[in-house]
Amino acid sequence: MPEPFHILLYYLYRPIDNPSEFAARQQALCQDLGLHGRIIVAGEGINGTVSGESDATDQYIKAMQADSCNAEMVFKVDPAPGHAFKKLSVKVRPELVTLQLAAEEDIDPTDLTGRRLLPADFHAAMKEEGALVLDGRNKYESDLGHFKDAVCPDVENFRDFPEWIRKNLSHAKERPILTYCTGGIRCEKLSGFLLQEGFKNVTQLDGGIVTYGKDPEVKGRDFQGQCYVFDSRIGVTVNSANPSVVATCRDCGQPSERYVNCAWKPCNCRIFLCSSCEEEAGRSCSDQCGRLLAGQ
Ligand SMILES: [Zn+2]
Ligand SMILES: [Zn+2]
Repeated sequence: MPEPFHILLYYLYRPIDNPSEFAARQQALCQDLGLHGRIIVAGEGINGTVSGESDATDQYIKAMQADSCNAEMVFKVDPAPGHAFKKLSVKVRPELVTLQLAAEEDIDPTDLTGRRLLPADFHAAMKEEGALVLDGRNKYESDLGHFKDAVCPDVENFRDFPEWIRKNLSHAKERPILTYCTGGIRCEKLSGFLLQEGFKNVTQLDGGIVTYGKDPEVKGRDFQGQCYVFDSRIGVTVNSANPSVVATCRDCGQPSERYVNCAWKPCNCRIFLCSSCEEEAGRSCSDQCGRLLAGQ
């Protein structure tokens, strides 16, 4: 039996003249189709991830493709047993991904972006002498899984990347830089930023980790662990060629991809904790949070 629901992941950098009006139409369309998820609309484009019954997501794709401005939009589709989001949220934002560069140094990816590599080419490029593979996501995402030998910046927000790059990568401007992220949208700007900073050879994984994992040739090869996703699944399998686990339980140190939030609500930080350790000692990230929880 095929799964009755689909989860869509998509984006497109394209000018949107009236983002509020565009967002209102998205809201109405998704409500009509019973879709849940998160959609960001900006003057520079649209970024969304939605779940719904497969007939409904098919209709959504058709409706989007009926707009010729969306001709280049790629939909990544995952089957699912049910909704992956609790509700629908459509928001207008100044940027699709928040890099918060000053106006004069902001990146328009339709104008400046790294060369796109298909999965097989990205895999080959990673093996080349001197290649520097840069994870374009936050630390809590790369902690669950990342490419073998990738540099995973210790950042909590995408907007921290410019500073992190200036501090940590300035010596590497001559090296080939390969960037990747979940679905490709962050790399559109990140790779453009690297070029603007004077990096000579910048490429990006077209379609991101999600596409890399679906590629029948590379089968996610050399991606270690799972790909963090922003829905109820939290992590998805990428690698069916040479899979491994990189995350470990914070208590016992055994491999564990069970990603939970510290139960002390003011903390709420993400931790890897296996179910037997949680049963034994509760779901706290530290002794301090454990004591606060116990004293509640
Ligand atoms: Zn454990
Ligand atoms: Zn905590």
